Amino acid sequence: MAQVSFMKTITVPNTCEINCLGKPSLEVKTLEAPELIGVKPPSVSNFELCLHVSIGDHVQIGTRLFSDKKYREVHILSPASGQISDIRYGPKNALDVIVIKRDKEESRLQISDQKTSLSTYQLSQVTRDSLVTSLLDGGLWTSFRQFPFRNIPDPKQIPPAIYVSIDQDEPFLPNGTVLLKDHIELFGIGVAVLNNIANGNLYIGVSQKNPRIKSALRELITHQIIGDYPANDPGVFLYHTKTSSELNNAWYITAQDVLRIAEWIVTAHYPIDQLITLGGPGVSKPMHYKTRIGMSIKDIVRETTITPNPRYIAGGIMTGRTTTQDDFLGADEHGVNVLSEETDQEWVPYIKPGLYRPTSTTAFLSALLPIRRHPLTTALQGSPRDCISCGDCMPVCPVNLLPQFIHKHLENNQENLAIEHGLLDCVECGLCSYICPSKIELTATFKSARSRLEKTGVSS
Ligand code: SF4
Ligand code: SF4
Repeated sequence: MAQVSFMKTITVPNTCEINCLGKPSLEVKTLEAPELIGVKPPSVSNFELCLHVSIGDHVQIGTRLFSDKKYREVHILSPASGQISDIRYGPKNALDVIVIKRDKEESRLQISDQKTSLSTYQLSQVTRDSLVTSLLDGGLWTSFRQFPFRNIPDPKQIPPAIYVSIDQDEPFLPNGTVLLKDHIELFGIGVAVLNNIANGNLYIGVSQKNPRIKSALRELITHQIIGDYPANDPGVFLYHTKTSSELNNAWYITAQDVLRIAEWIVTAHYPIDQLITLGGPGVSKPMHYKTRIGMSIKDIVRETTITPNPRYIAGGIMTGRTTTQDDFLGADEHGVNVLSEETDQEWVPYIKPGLYRPTSTTAFLSALLPIRRHPLTTALQGSPRDCISCGDCMPVCPVNLLPQFIHKHLENNQENLAIEHGLLDCVECGLCSYICPSKIELTATFKSARSRLEKTGVSS
């Protein structure tokens, strides 16, 4: 049931507008499903995989491919029907991807007895337990993530709250308006499901820059968020609305997954499509695509011209992972970005005016010019140096941390002091590393420290 809310405003003070070339147009093109579809495990550290298929097996849309060993009722389902043609493993023999060669005529597994559409009224009559079971059977539990480590939550837990951020500020991921166009009602059904799962403790945020969705969903939205990247990150949203320590273990879900949950509830069909973006300065025609889950990078870029020496990033430019054309996009990765791989060292960059160089200070002339989009590349502009205590990393942290102090504590193996300084609140946005003139890999250090803490069982 739609919740009536009085929208509050959050102003996130420390954010950064990343003016990068290659912003996807709002046009949406449909990419037909290719012959090969790849299914990757969720990119979380707490998923212990139990494989159900072997090479040569035939699967349908909705067949269980693998489950979690710890939470045995959490499954990943197949988004295609066909034959398992390859199972690839990565470092430490961890499963990388299951490749399915699609049938010409695909078939679906009937997963659930729920064959008719549920109205929001009917949804309000359904118990929480039966909704949880339905999402587990429908392979949609992996849509949820739990703070502070952003892993998959225990289905037996009741979350202190669930956060949904409609917009994503990171270059370049699907635009909230494009995502929800023609799907407002469906989103409302997804919100009704989440309200039930979260016992009414649901936070829904929208960017102030998205007035159309703000108006269309005004009865559902609890917060409008003001700020640039990463103001709409769910961790930033949580940080600026946190009223108790219990919320440190809140859950979140993307708006795209809210739609998938709603689609499952309405149709009882495992949702197999997703909206993604292809963007970045290395792409000739950046745009939105509607595609099958599990497309290869090669198939996503096949209709556009790519820069001669590309670096492919699965996900956003700031937080995504570097990959290759032969790899597949994970179900939780909603964009491919292409940068130019820079291998040449720039000759005496410090005597040049820097007209096209992104800067947070007045060191380059670009700071004095009207905002323009920059051809962001992979160049590091020199080698790493020691911390010069300039303090530049502090005014960009959206959750008010002191990155240089946390980094020093971690360097000195003082993890407790790093936690006291807020390490668990870090949203791994990458801004401190991006801004650091010494090019210290602050975010990577925080990420691996957080991962270590998760394994040793440190709670928030
Ligand atoms: S990555 Fe850096 S800037 Fe971003 S939240 Fe963490 S400490 Fe702050
Ligand atoms: S921006 Fe880099 S050099 Fe400056 S204080 Fe932070 S870590 Fe040190």
